[in-house]
Parts: sequence; C-alpha cells; structure tokens
Amino acid sequence: MSFATLGLSPAIVRAVTERGYTEPTPIQAQAIPVILAGTDLLGGAQTGTGKTAGFVLPILHRLTEHPAAHTTAGRAPIRALILTPTRELAAQVEESVREYGKHLALKSMMMYGGVNINPQIQKLRGQVDILVATPGRLLDHAQQRTVDLSHIEILVLDEADRMLDMGFIRDIKKIMAMLPKKRQTLLFSATFSNEIKTLADSLLISPVTVEVARRNTTNELIAQKAYGVDRERKRELLTHLIKENNWFQVLVFTRTKHAANRLAENLDKDGIPAMAIHGNKSQAARTRALKTFKDGTLQVLVATDIAARGIDISELPHVVNFELPNVAEDYVHRIGRTGRAGSQGEATSLVCVDEIKLLTAIERLTKSQIPLETLPGFEIDPRIQPEPILNRSQPGNASPGRQARPAAKTGNRPSTHDYARVAPAHRSGGRGR
Ligand code: AMP
Repeated sequence: MSFATLGLSPAIVRAVTERGYTEPTPIQAQAIPVILAGTDLLGGAQTGTGKTAGFVLPILHRLTEHPAAHTTAGRAPIRALILTPTRELAAQVEESVREYGKHLALKSMMMYGGVNINPQIQKLRGQVDILVATPGRLLDHAQQRTVDLSHIEILVLDEADRMLDMGFIRDIKKIMAMLPKKRQTLLFSATFSNEIKTLADSLLISPVTVEVARRNTTNELIAQKAYGVDRERKRELLTHLIKENNWFQVLVFTRTKHAANRLAENLDKDGIPAMAIHGNKSQAARTRALKTFKDGTLQVLVATDIAARGIDISELPHVVNFELPNVAEDYVHRIGRTGRAGSQGEATSLVCVDEIKLLTAIERLTKSQIPLETLPGFEIDPRIQPEPILNRSQPGNASPGRQARPAAKTGNRPSTHDYARVAPAHRSGGRGR
C-alpha cells in the first residue's frame, strides 16, 4: 500500500516521500481514510507507531481541500487544534506539521507554558491554521482573549490518557466549551481505561475505533541485551560500551533526577559529551539538550522516565537502561524509543544484583527472555549482596562499608543465587546472538 492510494494529495505524498517513508504504518493505513472521510476517530496507539503522521497527514489534506469557510477580523481563523500533554510532544507534533506540510501554504504554531506569553500573542496575530498546544497555556490565552477557537473544524486530543493522568481533565472540558459543536474530533490514547471511554463518549460522535496498541509487547526489531555488573561499576561499563562500540545518539535511562545528573557529569569527565534531562531542568535547557542530541552533536542524553515521556527521536540506535525501572511497563516505553517504525535498534540494560527481580518482572511482562551476560573485565563479585532500591538516592551511593571489595580474580560464573543465570559474553560489547 502507498500513501497515494490512501487518497492523500500529491503535495503531501511528496513531503512524506522526501521524509523517507515508503509505506504507511498500520495505524496510518487504518486512520487516514477514516479521517479523510470526516468521521470522528478513537485511536488506540502509542508513540512509536507512526500515529502523529496518522492524524497530521489527513488533517493537512482536509484543510487544503476545503479553504477556510470563515474569516475573523479579515484574516483566516485557526481551523485545527491539536492538544498534547507535554511541551516536548507539542514541539514534536508541530515539527511534523511543518515537515509534512512543507509544500502547502498552511501555517502552524505551537503553544505551551513555562515560556513568555508575549511572543505567542504576537504570533497569534498572524496567520495560524493549525495550533498545537498544551491545555494550560491555551486556557491562559483563551481567558485573555488572545486566541479565537470559535472556528475550529478539527480537534485532536493526543495521548489523552496522559492528559488525564496529568490532571488536565478540567482544562480540557473548559476548552471543549469554547469549540464549535460541529467539528471532527480525533482522540488518541495508548490505553482505554474507563476514564478514557467516558471522555470519548462525551466528545466523539459515532466514532470509528482503530487500534494498534502494542502495549507490553516488545518490538522484534529491537535487539535486547542485559549485562550483569556490580552496582559500583556501571558507569565504567557504560563508558566502555560506548567507546568500544563507537555508539552515538545513546539515550540512557536512570530512575532518579539525581542519578541522571551524576551520570551525565561523570560521562562528560570520561570524555563522552552527555547531558541530563529531567523535570528540574528549565524548558530552555531541555529544548537545547534535545536539539543537540537530535542533530548528533550530543553523544549521550540521560533521562528519567517522566522527562522522556513524549520525546520522539526517530530511529534512535541505542537505548541503555543504566538502572532498570521499578515498574516493568516503563521498560517497554523506554526501549520503544529505539527500532521504531521499521528501523533496527538496540536496547542494553546494565543489571546489578539489586535488580535481578526487576529483570524477571520485565521478562514476565514482555513474555520474552533477555539474555544476561557479563563482559570480560566486568565480572561480578559474588560477595556483593543485594540491597534495597531507594529511589531518592542512586544505588551507587551505598555506604562504602557495605560494598564488598572486588575479588582479586573472579571467574565469569558468580556463585550467588541471584546471578545464577549470568553467562559470560564472548565478544566485548558484541550483540551476543
Ligand atoms: P510517532 O508514533 O508518531 O511518534 O512516530 C514514530 C516514528 O516513526 C517517528 O520517528 C516517525 O518519523 C516515524 N514514522 C512515521 N510514519 C512512518 C512511516 N510510514 N514509515 C517509516 N517511519 C515512519
């Protein structure tokens, strides 16, 4: 199947081809014809499925097919509104709108909080056909009457489950009250909880449901790998893996902001350009880190699970779990950032003795076995006992007295019960397959 056979206009198909896509992903193949027909849609799809193009492409088509019906104060009104839970997601969606719409005359704008409102007010005075916004800032504008939502023809709620999780339901309801009743509404969510169903019932009229949720299953294009390593030697092993294998664009996950900062600083000291991104960083710092990471200048981005939600970095070659997540579902989200939409990726986990139970839980959830190996030079010291995982401090911060000294010479087969399944790796940093 091609994008042209889905009914998209040549200018849109051209942009998609230039972006390098040859055929639609399953969510695109299902959603695009429904949206082109003007029907409401309930989309079950998470990040990584190609859902953004799934709604952006047909929206662009519909807006160019029918010119603006009304004008406000002599200029074209805002005709499509895309609501996202986070600033990062708003920025990414708007970038997609610009990219896929580059051969069209439509203008887009993104709007989110945490930055000066005045440049946004200025921009709203010009032509804006498609507005991508987070709910809070949009409401600020609505209250100041700096935005007019009375001519919206298409509304998208992207990652609606996360918007509810983040407590945006009241804001969303207030925004709905400002929109025309006659409109097309598209709601995307990775999960269909009762809350989402209630929201969908109140917003959508005779919707078509399309679902490609890949929840809790891992993509076979992702090579998963786990190294057993002593908790104090994780950073050393990570530096070794990155340098030895010449990894670039490595997204590394930690459980805490503190661990993210510490690791980024230490990698930098090891001569590997790294930055941390988490909730305590300013929007400007987060945007800067993401930009340098995307353009390939920054070798490593260290992120917490929350900061990473909604970040879309296409065809990311390496994801590293420096610390396994406490919640097994987060593992699926983390590694879903690699090997997306058809490109091969590699997910590597560094597992210390404290985390064996977490690894088992992940395997149970994903119904897959993740081979656990050790690398020569990084053999496990069998005398080190598991310690509870404390989220406020990094596992590596354990008091020195509690950490056994490394054995002078350890084999590759540790004797502790917890590490019983570790196998030696044959090649340094190889895929071990
Ligand atoms: P999304 O689920 O919208 O976050 O998209 C996930 C990734 O897939 C993005 O990096 C897109 O650039 C990429 N993508 C979207 N559609 C396609 C396609 N038809 N073929 C290949 N890659 C795609």
